[in-house]
Amino acid sequence: MSWLLPRILAALLCGLLGASLGAWLGQLLDAPLLGAIVGAGGLGALLGFFDTLRAYRLVAWLRGSQRQAAPRTTGMWGELGYRIERALRQRELGAQQERDRLSQFLSAVEASPNGVLLLDASDQIEWANRTAAEHFGLDPVRDRQQRVTNLVRAPAFVAYLQGGHFDEPVVFPRPQGRGTLSVLAQRYGEGMTLVLSQDITERERADTMRRDFVANVSHEIRTPLTVLAGFIETMSSLPLTEVERKRVLDLMGQQARRMQTLVADLLTLAQLEGSPRPPSDRWVPVARLLAQVEGDARGLSQERHRIETQCDGGTMLVAGAEGELLSAWSNLVSNAIRYTPPGGTIRIGWRLLPDGSGEFSVRDTGIGIAREHLPRLTERFYRVDGSRSRETGGTGLGLSIVKHVVQRHGGELHADSEPGKGSLFRLVFPAMRVRTPEAVAGELQSAARAASDAAETR
Ligand code: ADP
Repeated sequence: MSWLLPRILAALLCGLLGASLGAWLGQLLDAPLLGAIVGAGGLGALLGFFDTLRAYRLVAWLRGSQRQAAPRTTGMWGELGYRIERALRQRELGAQQERDRLSQFLSAVEASPNGVLLLDASDQIEWANRTAAEHFGLDPVRDRQQRVTNLVRAPAFVAYLQGGHFDEPVVFPRPQGRGTLSVLAQRYGEGMTLVLSQDITERERADTMRRDFVANVSHEIRTPLTVLAGFIETMSSLPLTEVERKRVLDLMGQQARRMQTLVADLLTLAQLEGSPRPPSDRWVPVARLLAQVEGDARGLSQERHRIETQCDGGTMLVAGAEGELLSAWSNLVSNAIRYTPPGGTIRIGWRLLPDGSGEFSVRDTGIGIAREHLPRLTERFYRVDGSRSRETGGTGLGLSIVKHVVQRHGGELHADSEPGKGSLFRLVFPAMRVRTPEAVAGELQSAARAASDAAETR
């Protein structure tokens, strides 16, 4: 307020000066009092004129965009301009900070893996993040202010929103594309609704798989158990001859073995799922694995098939868990024998592929598999011919074990087949898991040298 005193003094001075000047001039016209009043009023009006000019410049600045600084004048108008400008700049800064905060918040919501949809009191879309737009098949810009139930017509969703009972989420098929959505709504503000959506397709699929798995296991166990219970009843209620008794015991033994095999396969699968990846530096001779699976094949076949084994590429080693590799290779060989009628040929082979990877293969001249079954063979309990599988002691888990093992070793399972002609199953192991013994020895030597160099420099 440094301008207040000077301004009062200036007004007084102007009044006095005007009055004296007016009185002096008024004396000449014989009206000194009137002259003093007119003189004081005149100078006061002059002061008011300059004030109006300054006020006009300030108002002109206020009417504009205020991008330039306020008019720099002294006194009351200068301070008024300065204070208005400062208040405006502070408000602008505050608004900018608010805008930044809002945009940060929206970016965070935008990045959320869940869909977020804001609806006004009439269920019109206020805002939707990208995930919600994708879940509900909306366009976040074009569909703004549209009633959501006009665009998302899934009956369960419409009934949920209209019902207004939002304690539990609602689950319904995705409006566009395949899959399932879980949606939870919440009221906020004045009649506004927050809608959160989550794609639960994978969770549903896993739940279904788990349910199917339990149902399948129960079914697989129930059948031999029912047979066993029947035989036990027969033995305890009927007098059997020695021959009949032996036959019943044989059949009971078969069913018990079937359950044992099933439980063993289930345990193998559980172990494969729960254990760490097989080592990449434990080298197993391919020839040893081949000899073992060939021995198993001959035992199973009982000379009913021709069995040939071929190993190309010289002495080779494969890195991994010997037990797992043996189980996978034996499973393929056992399938080949079980699904090839007597007199057929089974070819077991190993070869080095041009890119350095190694391929174990089993080719048979058996019943073959129709093309449509091939993609599903590795599903648990999937059987092309259920009765043949069970008759020959199959569990429906063999190929799923094989797939698990080969994937854990970084490889792939390939199946080709033609009904009536035979099948070819191949396991391809990546180049990093396939070596010659010389290469492994060389690698070990250089690793030992590097270790001793490191020890010396320390
Ligand atoms: P299973 O214990 O029933 O043999 P697998 O998982 O090993 O289970 O195989 C799945 C299904 O694939 C088998 O039930 C069978 O129908 C088919 N299959 C597997 N290998 C062969 C093969 N070499 N020839 C014909 N069919 C085969």
